Amino acid sequence: MTNDKAAPASGSILVVGGGIAGLTTAIEAAEVGYEVFLVEKNPYLGGRVAQLKQYFPKLCPPTCGLEINFRRIKDNPRIKVFTLAEVEAVTGNPGNYQARVTLNPRFVNENCTCCGACSEACQAEVPDDYNFGMSKTKGAYLPFEMAFPAKFVLSPQIIGTEDAIKAKEACKYDAIDLEMQAKSITLPVGAVVWATGWEPYDAHRIDNLGFGQYDNIITNMMLERLASKSGPTQGKILRPSDGKAPASVAFAQCAGSRDENYLPYCSYICCMASLKHATYIREQYPDTKVYIFYIDIRSPGDRYEKFYNTIKQDPNVFLIKGKVAEVSEDPVTKNITVVAENAVTGEKIRQTVDLAVLATGMQPTNANAKLPADLKTTADGFFINDFEKGGMFAAGCAAKPADVISSNQNATGMALKAIQTLVKR
Ligand SMILES: Cc1cc2nc3c(=O)[nH]c(=O)nc-3n(C[C@H](O)[C@H](O)[C@H](O)COP(=O)(O)OP(=O)(O)OC[C@H]3O[C@@H](n4cnc5c(N)ncnc54)[C@H](O)[C@@H]3O)c2cc1C
Ligand code: SF4
Ligand code: SF4
Repeated sequence: MTNDKAAPASGSILVVGGGIAGLTTAIEAAEVGYEVFLVEKNPYLGGRVAQLKQYFPKLCPPTCGLEINFRRIKDNPRIKVFTLAEVEAVTGNPGNYQARVTLNPRFVNENCTCCGACSEACQAEVPDDYNFGMSKTKGAYLPFEMAFPAKFVLSPQIIGTEDAIKAKEACKYDAIDLEMQAKSITLPVGAVVWATGWEPYDAHRIDNLGFGQYDNIITNMMLERLASKSGPTQGKILRPSDGKAPASVAFAQCAGSRDENYLPYCSYICCMASLKHATYIREQYPDTKVYIFYIDIRSPGDRYEKFYNTIKQDPNVFLIKGKVAEVSEDPVTKNITVVAENAVTGEKIRQTVDLAVLATGMQPTNANAKLPADLKTTADGFFINDFEKGGMFAAGCAAKPADVISSNQNATGMALKAIQTLVKR
C-alpha cells in the first residue's frame, strides 16, 4: 500500500540533523501535535551555531537562542532525540518510510549529573573537534559548557584502557557503562526532513592560500573558536605560532568560493562573518588594523547593509577590492604577506600582517558523505526539494548556503511540507 492514494502508514516525522534548522523543524512540527524523531550524529544538539561566538548582525551569543530551543524540546514529550546517531538507510515511499538508525554508545547513561569527576580521573587527552583540533580534551568530557543533552561522553579511543576504568571508578552516580554497544533501530515514519547542514570547505585544498603550510593562517571558523570564551584560548584572539596578540589581521574573502576550481557558488555568509570578525578583533585590540580583501561585499537586505556600513566607518578597518592571489611567510617573524591586485586602482598590493584569516565557505555535508536515501542533489551536493514527489525534504544549509534567519524560515516551511505528507493534502 505505497501508492499515492494510500493513507500514510505513519504519523511521525524523522528529522536528520540537530543544527538550528533541524531543531526548528522538529519543534515546529511537534508543537502542532506531530511525533518527531530527531537524529543527530554529534553527542550534542545545536550544529555549527553552537561553535559561534556571536550572531551577526545583533552580535548576541547563539547560546541564548539555543537554550530556548532546548527548553522547548525538554518540555515536549512528542520529540524523541537520538544523539550519536546516524541514519543508515531510508526506504519506502511518502507516508510510509522505514529508517534504519545506528545509535552509537556514549558510555554514559541518564544518571550523569555533570559533576566532572570522570574527566578529572582520566589522564588521556583526545583532539577536540569542537575547537577544530586547536586544543585537546580529556577522554571523558562534556562537549562544551552549554551542551545539550547535558551529559558527559567517553571517547571510543579510551575504551579498553586504564583511563576508562579510572573514569568509571570515579563516578559516584553509576553513570558510566563501559559495556554499552552500538545498536540499530528501525523507525517507521511518514516524512523525512534532511537538515544535515554544512561543513567548512577544506582550506588545505586551496593551493595558493597557504593553509596548513603557515601557522598564522587560520580559517573563519577557527577564529570563531579563538574568540569564544569556551575556546582554546578562553576567548583571546592570539596567533598560533607564538601566542602573540595580532597587531594586524588580513581576511581573504571568497577563499574557495566563487571559483570553478573549488566551490563555484557564493557561500552567502562569509562576507557578513568577516565583518562580524572585525568587531571581535577591534573589541579586543583597539589599535589592531584589519584588512579585508574582497571581490564584492555581499550583505543582503537592510539590516546586513547597515551592519556593513557601520563597520566601514571604523578607521582601523580597511576594505580593499581585490582577491588575494598569493600568500607567503617570513620564516623569522612568521608574519604573513598577502598579495592582491586592487580592482579599483589596478595597483598590486602587498600587505604584511601578523595573522591571516581565510573566509572559507560552506559545503553541504552531503558533498563528502552521501546520504543513504533516494535524493536529488545539485552537482555540489545541495538537495533539490522535489515537492511533486514529496515525502522527503531538505531544510537549512542542506539545501543552500544560508544564514540562521533564512535557515529557520526554511525549516519552518519544511515542517509544514512534512505535515502535509502526513495528512495527505
Ligand atoms: C564563519 C561563519 C560564521 C557564521 N556566523 C553566522 C552568524 O553570525 N549569523 C548567522 O545568521 N549565520 C552565521 N553563519 C551561518 C550558520 O552557521 C548557518 O546558517 C547554520 O549553521 C545553518 O544551520 P543548519 O542547521 O542548516 O546546519 P548545521 O549547523 O551544519 O547543522 C547540521 C547538523 O546536522 C548534523 N548532521 C550532519 N549529517 C548528519 C547525519 N548524516 N546524521 C545525523 N546528523 C547529521 C550535524 O552534526 C549538525 O549538527 C556563519 C557561518 C560561518 C561559516
Ligand atoms: S559520568 Fe559520572 S563522573 Fe562523569 S560527569 Fe557524569 S556523573 Fe560525573
Ligand atoms: S559571501 Fe562574500 S566572501 Fe562569501 S563567497 Fe560570497 S562574496 Fe565571497
